[in-house]
Amino acid sequence: MSHFSFIEGPRKDPEKLDAEQRRHEFRELYTGFDLGSARLQADRCLHCGNPYCEWKCPVHNYIPNWLQLIVENRIEEAAAMSHETNTLPEICGRICPQDRLCEGACTLNDGYGAVTIGHLERFITEEAIGRGWHPEAPRRTANGKRVAIVGAGPAGLGCADILNRAGTEVLVFDRYPAVGGLLTFGIPPFKLEKAVIARRAQLLEDMGVRFQLNTEIGKDLSMTQLLTDYDAVFLGMGTYAAKEGGFPGENLPGMIKALPYLIGNVRQLLDLPDPLTPYIDLAGKRVVVLGGGDTAMDCLRTAIRQGAVQVTCAYRRDEENMPGSRREVANAREEGVHFLFNRQPLEILGKDTVSGVRLVETRLGDPDPRGRRHPEMVAGSEQVLAADVVIIAFGFDPSPAPWFAGHGIHLDERGRVLTNAQFQTSNPRVFAGGDMRTGSDLVVTAVDEGRRAANGILDYLGV
Ligand SMILES: Cc1cc2nc3c(=O)[nH]c(=O)nc-3n(C[C@H](O)[C@H](O)[C@H](O)COP(=O)(O)OP(=O)(O)OC[C@H]3O[C@@H](n4cnc5c(N)ncnc54)[C@H](O)[C@@H]3O)c2cc1C
Ligand code: SF4
Repeated sequence: MSHFSFIEGPRKDPEKLDAEQRRHEFRELYTGFDLGSARLQADRCLHCGNPYCEWKCPVHNYIPNWLQLIVENRIEEAAAMSHETNTLPEICGRICPQDRLCEGACTLNDGYGAVTIGHLERFITEEAIGRGWHPEAPRRTANGKRVAIVGAGPAGLGCADILNRAGTEVLVFDRYPAVGGLLTFGIPPFKLEKAVIARRAQLLEDMGVRFQLNTEIGKDLSMTQLLTDYDAVFLGMGTYAAKEGGFPGENLPGMIKALPYLIGNVRQLLDLPDPLTPYIDLAGKRVVVLGGGDTAMDCLRTAIRQGAVQVTCAYRRDEENMPGSRREVANAREEGVHFLFNRQPLEILGKDTVSGVRLVETRLGDPDPRGRRHPEMVAGSEQVLAADVVIIAFGFDPSPAPWFAGHGIHLDERGRVLTNAQFQTSNPRVFAGGDMRTGSDLVVTAVDEGRRAANGILDYLGV
């Protein structure tokens, strides 16, 4: 293939479903590459001496190397290499905010269009599995150690993968009835279909990882019991305390919290109803979502698919300063979401139920010492936006379990679990990683934390 592929063949994402069709379906948007398109896109890589994409990828995937293997149609080798650094490559390939990570750092991003790294990462595993490939079960003999993992989200799965490969006996507990954490009970299927996670759980089981679901540690089984039965425990329990707005009217009927809404919708689709997170149908409603992150985008696009008649996102900064993935903002807009930037909510209006939101315009002030520009209210710019339902999606605070203190697990001033560089908590036999340690972040950073914590555990156990 040519040295100038990046000029001769432009960046091209795989086909995606038509926006009108998407408005009625929870299917994934992107169809994925076929072999021919994948090879053409992979061949655009410049193989720059210093691969910035690798540095920017939190798990430091060997990106240029697996791109070259795609070009040479050595897909099974690419898959094996991709699994050396990432436990969930086909999942990260789908839902990482690549524009801020690997693709944002690609040299070609400066004028030519970055290599489509995410879609190609997804392609490798999909194509390899389609050819009958599967990740190798560990070749090492059992090391005689047993580790319990609390939480089957990305952090727990990353940790289980590395421990299992090292010959450790691993049992992953989760309070939910399926593996995946927020991948399953949070992120909607139009970004990540649930069958993809179920297949990954099966691959991990085939490699030797065991799961015990519907088991909440601290309720169904005590931490004391885990510490009796296992040599070490890894906590990957996530962050689940929804941030509040703190404005009047927040408790009116018609106010909805983002995560229970999304979970109720997924449970309905999976036919796994739960009275604690009931299905909320927004068909025919005027919906306003407050917030500008991934969770807000997912609520907006779920409401569209449920048949809401008007769906508006009100965010207090401008579009450039939105925390959500640019790609998902663009997809939301295509699907009919209306965006109101630089708007801060002051009050939820309504008597017996929500009738609207009082908003004020904002402008961004000077950057603070961390470079973040805070919104300042513009006097006299208030407006009322009519709504039947308002969803609050302001993110999540840590939700440490009440039993941490009794086991000597210390927290920082924000409620995140404190660890040393080996991910070891103040209880030497307990390790922690993912959102509960970093605060709410990303799937790929949680995977990275879990994998690195596994190495800390192996060092501690001396195997
Ligand atoms: C709506 C939404 C959309 C998102 N979209 C994206 C995206 O597009 N891209 C991206 O990279 N990131 C996204 N994120 C963030 C990402 O999902 C998280 O950063 C990631 O899942 C964190 O992984 P984790 O393993 O730390 O925690 P979690 O995924 O939260 O997993 C924690 C697990 O621990 C279990 N658990 C907790 N307590 C107990 C207990 N006592 N006993 C047993 N089990 C327990 C929970 O049931 C859960 O399964 C999104 C988050 C949300 C909420
Ligand atoms: S894991 Fe995420 S950041 Fe890393 S290469 Fe894959 S898509 Fe890019």
